[in-house]
Amino acid sequence: MSKPAELSCSECGPLNCYRQDKTYPPFCLTEAADRQQVESVVELLRGDNLDGRMARAAGEIEGLYYGKATRVEEIILFAKRIGAQRIGIATCRGLIEEARIFVKIVRAKGLEPYTVVCKVGSVDKREIGIAEEARLQKDAYEAMCNPVLQARLLNAQQTELNVLIGLCVGHDSLFIKHSAAPVTTLIVKDRVLCHNPVAALYASNTYYKRLLEPDQEAEKKP
Ligand code: SF4
Repeated sequence: MSKPAELSCSECGPLNCYRQDKTYPPFCLTEAADRQQVESVVELLRGDNLDGRMARAAGEIEGLYYGKATRVEEIILFAKRIGAQRIGIATCRGLIEEARIFVKIVRAKGLEPYTVVCKVGSVDKREIGIAEEARLQKDAYEAMCNPVLQARLLNAQQTELNVLIGLCVGHDSLFIKHSAAPVTTLIVKDRVLCHNPVAALYASNTYYKRLLEPDQEAEKKP
């Protein structure tokens, strides 16, 4: 018998924590939260530390530019509000042209971009034990994505905000784990949906019904 689903915010109808104009559900995470913990977060974000500056910058940009600034513009606004001058760009090689355009924009706005591509270091996939069947092209040198080196090179450049451009799922996780600077995302990779992954959710009752069905075939594992 499968475990009953645990109730959390995704099962909440009123979302009362936003405006407090409805009622909280019985399983509400706001009501259950340790008030001291909530207070300690408020205390942290009220301060003049980077967390506080980021929280205020993000909240102010949301309020002041709601529906007006594109994400590209929001990233520039955010960088400026937190005082980040050195902008690291961790890009996928497949999106290098988009990264080049973003670099021009960053420079035009008076900031300093520094880009590292995912294949940096040029280490063949075999070297970390990626199976032959998982290579895209069997008879050619095929460098792995190297998000850890991407992050380390940007750390060495002392970038103050790192921007992800199309890193793969998982490579982005590794980059974020190893980045010294805060990370934001300009483009998330979705090779099927032209980097617009939300389309799969919008079409999950039609073209992508399979998403709501239990997995039929065993996961492909080399
Ligand atoms: S915190 Fe409470 S009110 Fe807010 S979404 Fe979660 S369950 Fe709903």
